[in-house]
Amino acid sequence: MIDVIIAGGGPTGVMLAGELRLHGLHALVLEKEAEPTRIVRALGLHARSIEVMDQRGLLDRFLGLGRQYPVGGSFAGIAKPRPDRLDTAHPYILGIPQTITERLLTEHATELGAEIRRGCELVGLSQDKDGVTAELADGTQLRSRYLVGCDGGRSTVRRLLGVGFPGEPARVEWLLGEVEVTMPPEELAAVVAEVRETHKGFGAGPLGDGVYRVVARAEEVAEDRTVPPTLDELKQRVLAIAGTDFGVHSPRWLSRFGDATRLAERYQVGRVLLAGDAAHIHPPLGGQGLNLGIQDAFNLGWKLAAEVDGWAPEGLLDSYHTERRPVAADVLDNTRAQVELTSLEPGPQAVRRLVSELMEFEDVNRYLIEKVTAIGIRYDFGEGHELLGRRLRDVGLKRGRLYALMHGGRGLLLDQTGRLSVAGWADRVDHVVDVSEELDVPAALLRPDGHVAWAGEDQQELLSHLPKWFGAPVN
Ligand SMILES: Cc1cc2nc3c(=O)[nH]c(=O)nc-3n(C[C@H](O)[C@H](O)[C@H](O)COP(=O)(O)OP(=O)(O)OC[C@H]3O[C@@H](n4cnc5c(N)ncnc54)[C@H](O)[C@@H]3O)c2cc1C
Repeated sequence: MIDVIIAGGGPTGVMLAGELRLHGLHALVLEKEAEPTRIVRALGLHARSIEVMDQRGLLDRFLGLGRQYPVGGSFAGIAKPRPDRLDTAHPYILGIPQTITERLLTEHATELGAEIRRGCELVGLSQDKDGVTAELADGTQLRSRYLVGCDGGRSTVRRLLGVGFPGEPARVEWLLGEVEVTMPPEELAAVVAEVRETHKGFGAGPLGDGVYRVVARAEEVAEDRTVPPTLDELKQRVLAIAGTDFGVHSPRWLSRFGDATRLAERYQVGRVLLAGDAAHIHPPLGGQGLNLGIQDAFNLGWKLAAEVDGWAPEGLLDSYHTERRPVAADVLDNTRAQVELTSLEPGPQAVRRLVSELMEFEDVNRYLIEKVTAIGIRYDFGEGHELLGRRLRDVGLKRGRLYALMHGGRGLLLDQTGRLSVAGWADRVDHVVDVSEELDVPAALLRPDGHVAWAGEDQQELLSHLPKWFGAPVN
């Protein structure tokens, strides 16, 4: 019996595999494609995902292959400087192609011992009270305790579960590709700048070696969006919009994407769960989808591990749906709003001017950045300290940095009083007695995903919160 089968080896699936391996689970990723994709969709990581990489000791790998950009301008492309106070040690966007993110997360998962089987498509599943049976395209049957569908927007797992995916269908489609051009760079840049005055979605950005990433609105939504466009189709659209086709040729790859916006009705049916694009899709404005999926996996991994290991308290796994679905609903809403703000109609343009004026207020600017970067998320853990339910930013301690102590994916009590104890939970929760000038609470109990489960100084209060997240004490 495998502990967890993960259908889909995209960023969400491999992130989850790594998280499960931290807890020693047998995690098997089934990926239908025989080779990693060359198509680059996401172009970067936002602050919360950068923090997640830091919390797992992966930051240096990502920083080494990415480029740091200023954080302003993520909301509907409205350019504003970064607010002075941003509650993160990583106030930048990390530009890094999705293909590299996937490679780094895959390497991390396999180094930890996850098994990744390529060329394996999941086509069927059934479940009973003890486990899930997954059927592969070649007829193989596999059995696991849990199965997670990380198989993207057209999720087979979601369809097999019969989970509804309500929302809006694609009304607009864009063609995207990496191609070579013959037009000189300065001339091309001038044309693009002019076209973007009236076509916000249009773009052609240099990637080096004469290769450009080109995006142009399609004439209509294709009947089958799984079929990539031809070079000629892209050429025609670029010509129609820009008045020149830049001499595009020699495509590295071509793809298309739409603005469909949908949210799964449920994230869990029995022993089968959904994460990443399988649970939510939306247009790429603000660059949030991959980030959202990685953070789904970060939320789910330790909870699933707790279930399999047998120490999960009542309701822990259910909290995956109750915490993460509202976060996705909020991302869907902010992308809907951003789509409106990029319309060239007079009404939305007037609203855009107004939003731009409002963003001159530091608090408004910060609020929108905290939304898009996901550092503003607060899960509903009930009444309590203002940190409760929020993730704690990385803070400096006397003996180093907080996130450096979280690589193992365990709970952590950061105790500035030296009087507290996690006896009974020491196998699941680390007790760190240290002080930080950046933390004005005597002690904070952090879940493995870095969210604050309790803040205070009273041992009895702590004892009443530990079982809620970490189960019963052991002697
Ligand atoms: C043009 C564009 C730009 C974007 N830019 C950004 C950005 O800047 N920032 C950002 O955060 N997000 C961005 N996104 C969104 C981001 O690409 C997705 O949200 C992300 O890829 C979702 O990851 P995932 O692992 O959930 O799903 P996917 O990446 O779709 O991975 C799913 C995997 O499952 C596999 N699979 C499917 N069916 C099966 C099956 N039956 N059995 C086995 N395997 C299966 C697939 O082959 C695939 O490898 C962008 C998207 C587009 C289209």
